[in-house]
Amino acid sequence: MSPLVDGRYDVIVVGAGPAGIACSTLLARHDLRVLLLDKARFPREKICGDCINPKCWPIFELLGVASTLRQQGLHVVDSFRLTNSAGVVVRGKILPESDSPLFSIKRSILDTLLLENAARSGARVLEKTTVVDVQWSVGRGVVVRTAGENRFLELRADYLVGADGRNSLVAKRILEKGGIPQGRHGERRISDKRLRVGVQWHTHHQPQAGSAVEFFLFALGYCGIVNVDDRAATVAMVTTPDLARLGQHDFPRFLEKTLYSNPAARIRFPSLTPPEVLSTAYPIHPRLHENGERRVFLIGDARQTVEPFTGEGVFFAMQEGVLAAQRILHARNSPVPFLSQSIHPPSWANRFSTLLLSHGRSADLLTVLASRLPFLVPFVARTILR
Ligand SMILES: Cc1cc2nc3c(=O)[nH]c(=O)nc-3n(C[C@H](O)[C@H](O)[C@H](O)COP(=O)(O)OP(=O)(O)OC[C@H]3O[C@@H](n4cnc5c(N)ncnc54)[C@H](O)[C@@H]3O)c2cc1C
Repeated sequence: MSPLVDGRYDVIVVGAGPAGIACSTLLARHDLRVLLLDKARFPREKICGDCINPKCWPIFELLGVASTLRQQGLHVVDSFRLTNSAGVVVRGKILPESDSPLFSIKRSILDTLLLENAARSGARVLEKTTVVDVQWSVGRGVVVRTAGENRFLELRADYLVGADGRNSLVAKRILEKGGIPQGRHGERRISDKRLRVGVQWHTHHQPQAGSAVEFFLFALGYCGIVNVDDRAATVAMVTTPDLARLGQHDFPRFLEKTLYSNPAARIRFPSLTPPEVLSTAYPIHPRLHENGERRVFLIGDARQTVEPFTGEGVFFAMQEGVLAAQRILHARNSPVPFLSQSIHPPSWANRFSTLLLSHGRSADLLTVLASRLPFLVPFVARTILR
């Protein structure tokens, strides 16, 4: 989008998802020289349930995109319906507060809108630019090397922000450098049996879903379905790597073994056309990456802290982007270095769902409990949505 300008930047941000964009926009607004790099050409899709949590609205306001979004004719999501693998249903209302609702939108649309806003705010954006190496040292700052359309650039900055998603290169480099302390805040190993990946595709509009988001639990994962506009619906699933691989070459069998292994899903959504593109993301299980470096920040999915089920990923990503920007601004204006770079942990509901969903049977049992004690449902929904 913007032409490359040689020279040193104040901040280089790797990854133009919600985390990197939020961070870049705020830093650029404060007149920092910000370079935002992404390997994709926008608009690009991103594996996501495409439900945007109402908690995002204050950040949209802060970034200056709220009114543009509202003018888009948003697809408001006003309720949810969860069916466990035995057919027990729990449903609830999502309070559609008039101007800050939960809505669904293709990530290609949302992220492009945010990115254009970042460029307007003064961030330099380079698409089709893959970061292949990052280095930093005390006193000499950060060096970032790229490949792609803008080949073999060597870029320098005072600060580096790793917002490059679940397979973050920046996180790998930090790990190699020993910048992530092990133990409680270190990388948690996940056994192969519990490893889960994300799978997503767009299918045609599903009238029976209306303005609800529907979830189905099955033995080896869960699936969410939501209409994103009058023509399309998003199907987002978390399941095992083997089943995700099956989806790439035998879609009908994949569907049988995942979503349709819940009989209620087959009856309710009998027609989920095979996708043009079946996207997968790996891995899903959150691992907490804490960053010990003072000039390198890891934000959003690069920290791998979020379980997608509660639909808070975009919110956490943007929130961490805002916090990282605030910390960089504070550090530049203050001679006192930050005491801590740890960023807000995910909500308890998100942590709990991580635990629950990696043990399919517990999620089934909790659904039964929630169906018998319906007063629990609005309480949990409020925690996730506010
Ligand atoms: C199945 C599933 C369903 C989900 N459903 C929801 C939902 O309904 N609601 C919700 O809020 N969240 C949901 N999430 C989570 C949400 O998608 C993420 O939490 C969110 O996108 C994280 O944003 P981010 O900016 O950290 O990373 P991303 O959005 O992943 O952005 C990372 C960017 O970095 C770029 N990149 C990666 N590597 C490099 C590199 N080496 N060089 C340059 N660029 C690079 C990528 O191209 C990408 O644009 C879901 C996730 C999954 C897997």
